[in-house]
Amino acid sequence: RPRSAVLFPRGGPRAMDDEVIRGLFEQGLMGIEIDPAYGGTGSSFFSSILVIEELAKVDPSVSVLCDIQNTLINTLVTKLGTEEQKEKYLTRLSTDTVGSFCLSEAESGSDAFAMKTRADKHQDYYIINGSKMWISNAEQAGVFLVMANADHSAGYRGITCFIVDRETEGLHIGRKENKLGLRASSTCPLNFDNLKVPEKNILGKVGHGYKYAIGMLNEGRIGIAAQMLGLAQGCFDQTVPYTRQRIQFGKRIFDFQGMQHQISHVATQLEAARLLTYNAARLKEAGRPFIKEACMAKYFAAEVATLATSKCIEWMGGVGFTKDYPIEKFYRDCKIGTIYEGTTNIQLSTIAKHLDKQYDN
Ligand SMILES: Cc1cc2nc3c(=O)[nH]c(=O)nc-3n(C[C@H](O)[C@H](O)[C@H](O)COP(=O)(O)OP(=O)(O)OC[C@H]3O[C@@H](n4cnc5c(N)ncnc54)[C@H](O)[C@@H]3O)c2cc1C
Repeated sequence: RPRSAVLFPRGGPRAMDDEVIRGLFEQGLMGIEIDPAYGGTGSSFFSSILVIEELAKVDPSVSVLCDIQNTLINTLVTKLGTEEQKEKYLTRLSTDTVGSFCLSEAESGSDAFAMKTRADKHQDYYIINGSKMWISNAEQAGVFLVMANADHSAGYRGITCFIVDRETEGLHIGRKENKLGLRASSTCPLNFDNLKVPEKNILGKVGHGYKYAIGMLNEGRIGIAAQMLGLAQGCFDQTVPYTRQRIQFGKRIFDFQGMQHQISHVATQLEAARLLTYNAARLKEAGRPFIKEACMAKYFAAEVATLATSKCIEWMGGVGFTKDYPIEKFYRDCKIGTIYEGTTNIQLSTIAKHLDKQYDN
């Protein structure tokens, strides 16, 4: 059996191995940008992007766990946390605690700010009621950043970000979704039943949650672009050697011009996705405008991942269609790239918004 069959037993284990998560923490990959004073690695956003890409070459589920932790959770706490919150949460996030980002609900996906989850103020605490859907890593998470509306009369300007510990009474984590891909990544519904959260657990300012969510997702999209890029590259790297070994009509299938042109086309698309992703990361890191570029990178990298994984199955022939090789897994895993952290339509709409403004005068 090929080596990859051992690495990916019959389509993957369909669960995240605790050992893998421990390894990520031990390697300093869960607190890449967190200050070493809080136990972090003290590295850069660009390093996070490279790590997300590298992990996705092997398993996009592990990659998204690391991606959400670094590009959403850690960044929000670092940017907005009080000293007390940073001391308490950054030290855990960098060493042993997984975080989840809780925005989407059953009836509010792309239109995220139409959320119904509410937070009602009492003396020095809030009572949160409602539910969330599609929350990545919820099975493993020790801390949840929950967006809830603390003032429905103000519309989306009531949305507030709360830090919720897993042990908080009233937090119910539902059964993980049975998904097409990313099967090792837990995606769960959450239910809040009179969840009591102290006022000191508000992250940032009351009513500013929508701004924080937009800001984080703009950055996070570069992470998803990196995940899609890594996934596509990993799939390509597992496939090309096969085409150089497989003999048909007396020669390597790689030697047929019909194969070479397709392989070269995909390699070029991959390089373009890489440059878009790195450029968006570079702009973000330099403090320059990057939103349009981040949307372009995420949109394009998801398209390239779809193309590359589909082509790789074809280039492998029948065995590419089996679970003996990881190719069909990459093919299933890539589909999420056009959906989460803003669907492809939402990326295209945001790009158009920026283009419209660009040609204003
Ligand atoms: C595996 C997985 C993990 C996830 N992880 C998280 C997480 O950790 N935290 C979290 O908060 N959420 C998470 N999500 C939710 C994800 O962000 C949403 O699924 C996504 O934003 C789309 O929302 P929706 O599913 O409600 O689709 P909808 O918004 O209902 O979209 C359905 C279709 O309508 C189109 N559409 C909607 N509005 C427009 C428009 N204005 N213009 C053009 N087309 C439009 C969309 O492009 C799409 O094709 C996750 C989802 C999945 C599947």
